Amino acid sequence: MANNFLKKIEAQINNSIILKDETIMAPYLIDWRGNFRGNAKAILMPTDTQMVSTIMQIADTENQTIVPQGGNTGLVGGGIPDQTGESVILSLKKMNSIIEFSPENRTIIAQSGCILQQIHELVEKQNLCLPLTLAAKGSCTIGGNLATNAGGLNVLRYGSMREQCLGLEVVLADGAIINQLEPLRKDNTGYDLKNLFIGSEGTLGIITASCLKLVSKPKVKSTSIAVIEKFEHSLKLLEMLQNYSGDQVDSFEIMPKTLLDIVYKQFPDISQPIKPYSGFILLMEISSSKSDNLEDNTLGKSFLQNIMECFLEQAYSDNLISNAVVAQNESQRQAFWTIRENAPQATKQESWPINTDISVRRDKLAEFYNFASIEVAKICNKSRICGYGHVGDGNLHFNVVEAEEGDPNWSDKRAQILQVIYDSLEKFSGSISAEHGIGQLKTNQLINTKDPNHYHIMTKIKNSLDPKNLLNPGRIIN
Ligand SMILES: Cc1cc2nc3c(=O)[nH]c(=O)nc-3n(C[C@H](O)[C@H](O)[C@H](O)COP(=O)(O)OP(=O)(O)OC[C@H]3O[C@@H](n4cnc5c(N)ncnc54)[C@H](O)[C@@H]3O)c2cc1C
Repeated sequence: MANNFLKKIEAQINNSIILKDETIMAPYLIDWRGNFRGNAKAILMPTDTQMVSTIMQIADTENQTIVPQGGNTGLVGGGIPDQTGESVILSLKKMNSIIEFSPENRTIIAQSGCILQQIHELVEKQNLCLPLTLAAKGSCTIGGNLATNAGGLNVLRYGSMREQCLGLEVVLADGAIINQLEPLRKDNTGYDLKNLFIGSEGTLGIITASCLKLVSKPKVKSTSIAVIEKFEHSLKLLEMLQNYSGDQVDSFEIMPKTLLDIVYKQFPDISQPIKPYSGFILLMEISSSKSDNLEDNTLGKSFLQNIMECFLEQAYSDNLISNAVVAQNESQRQAFWTIRENAPQATKQESWPINTDISVRRDKLAEFYNFASIEVAKICNKSRICGYGHVGDGNLHFNVVEAEEGDPNWSDKRAQILQVIYDSLEKFSGSISAEHGIGQLKTNQLINTKDPNHYHIMTKIKNSLDPKNLLNPGRIIN
């Protein structure tokens, strides 16, 4: 069946878009964490939308299952095929052209294989910014960001990928093309299909291009790190910083001491801007695109720098922080972010961590953290709880790393620990996936936790758009 498919691709498109060499294929068959490995008959690398449409038409007649893939930085195994070797990966990597960049309209229309960082660099030349940013920005693609409704470090101020997108071009399972790329800011003509495809992880259609809206590039930023003893102080501090800055907080990230110890151990060259540290640190950034903020006051500091310092002084006198440091220049700012951006890699190198991506309502996050920590400690009191991340979004990577001295029973305890984390989450009516999606990792959990009527409608949508279950089968809907 699949051989017929590939023969038809060769005949109707070109042999050169098909990759079959095992060594070349290898990195496409394993996920970033190394948790999912699959097999595939081939990888297809189309260069335009018409080719994707022809591929899907042939897939439809030949009943060929297709797994779309972008930069393969996804963390739930969504872009990795199963092990049967029957699927074909459709990589969007070669569809990496800019279709239109309009600084006047503040929009960019790009093919899906464009790398996020390349879009950042391009639009910044015109003093504009695409606010989505995450540690995988050098490898993840715009198509993958849309397919996962990626969140990242600036959601607090700018929202996730849904909020950045004005329109999509999508190829459906039968090869039909939906083109809604016109850069319209308002369009109330019926159902919003765009938001159905965003976050659908390749199960409803292949996103081939998108129209994204841009904002002014921040002209000035102020970034600080503060030490807090209790998680619950973070929420008070967030509220204070929003008030001090007039809602100009871009990022508000938390990292516990346990995590910092691991980052510094795994990457000894990373500078330690704050010593000693205990409890947790907050990494906070405010920004403004107002040019008059660049003007120095009499003390030679930017307006935002003053705001940050006044806020920290107040926080210190209110006993909410025990120590703080403000980045004095761009290289210090980068050094602060290096700590946060290396956190996923550091825990991966340290041991085989238990990873989660949970969210609860923001005002309950500290309570959840404390409750879940106690529950985890009941199973394994030497394991290291590394709940870090986007505290401003109520989203934590509540990860648990094996005891420093090693634990011979770690593999047995993993399932139990994961269970108590999710049981704790249920008590707080949280989400099992705040930003990474469902992929193949959480399909069973989705059935068990989603409102049954909601899940039923999701399966009906899947069946109506992809009745033969050719697009990314077994992902999201099992
Ligand atoms: C170090 C690190 C840090 C990360 N930090 C964050 C973070 O802060 N926030 C966050 O949200 N995520 C984060 N991620 C996860 C990941 O980077 C995002 O999910 C990203 O959006 C995936 O993009 P990608 O191009 O790599 O997609 P892939 O991994 O290739 O694919 C992801 C899913 O989308 C589907 N897909 C890909 N392209 C298309 C397309 N064109 N059309 C239809 N379906 C498609 C795939 O089938 C798969 O289901 C991080 C990952 C790493 C490794």
